[in-house]
Amino acid sequence: MSVVFRLEAPYRGEYALHRLTFGGNGPAAVAMVAGLHGNEVNGIQALNLVAGMLRVMRPKRPVHLLPCVNSIGADEARKRWPFDDRDINAAFPGDPEGAPVERIAAAVMDATDAELCIDVHSGATTVREHPHARVPLSGPELEHARAMMLPVVWRRRGDRYEGGLVGAWRGAGREALQVRGGRGLALDMDDATTLARGLVRLLAHLGLISHQDTGTPSHDTDHVQDYRSMAGGFFVPEVQTGERVVSGKLLGLVRNPLGGEPIEEIRAHKAGMVLAVRVYPMVHAQELVVRIAEDAT
Ligand SMILES: [Zn+2]
Repeated sequence: MSVVFRLEAPYRGEYALHRLTFGGNGPAAVAMVAGLHGNEVNGIQALNLVAGMLRVMRPKRPVHLLPCVNSIGADEARKRWPFDDRDINAAFPGDPEGAPVERIAAAVMDATDAELCIDVHSGATTVREHPHARVPLSGPELEHARAMMLPVVWRRRGDRYEGGLVGAWRGAGREALQVRGGRGLALDMDDATTLARGLVRLLAHLGLISHQDTGTPSHDTDHVQDYRSMAGGFFVPEVQTGERVVSGKLLGLVRNPLGGEPIEEIRAHKAGMVLAVRVYPMVHAQELVVRIAEDAT
């Protein structure tokens, strides 16, 4: 493990950006980043599982892992950089002479100089997401997402012009995609393990390690439907992430938080797989309660 960047932090010692590198010499093949949002700990666990694999099966070319970029936020269970409450993911491509988040962003760009870059996130603290890759409608990122065999591949219109770290990587000529699973503030072991297995499958697909792990092809779709509460209230789900649903299936009920009377039924309009479920039940009008990765038609 090496420290690739340091920042003097008033009163609290210093911030250090840590990187683990596995495998031979030459330009890096892959870089994986987690913990850009400090409270999204599933990515930290996923990259540490990948590190455990790479310690025993040395990749043919260097693979960089940055398991916890926003370590000070992680210590405080916070998504953003604590000192000024800025989102590091909104600071890319960064500025070595700029504000702390901009300097960290620039250091992350330097430390991830690889052909293929992957950014690992959790869902919001209120919403659990089934492990999935977010990619453009076509191109090498889509091929690599499919090789991971995560439960869902979400092909997104406009993803080519994604902002944040993924957009900055693409702007620097690197292939880049985002994978996500679980929710913020929680360690969802199954989701973290699923993400790690997908990342290891991708390294095998790229010929960097020899590893056999059969999987099932992803639920691959460019149609993802958000279901929102019209009324607001206390949302009680009737489905779990990863569950298959048919059209008309009851996804959950919005109830009166005082007395429990049903206020609103949320039903699926189309068949698909449950990609996200609200786990914090208090919901305001227009907030997400369920997200369905619809079957391709
Ligand atoms: Zn995030």
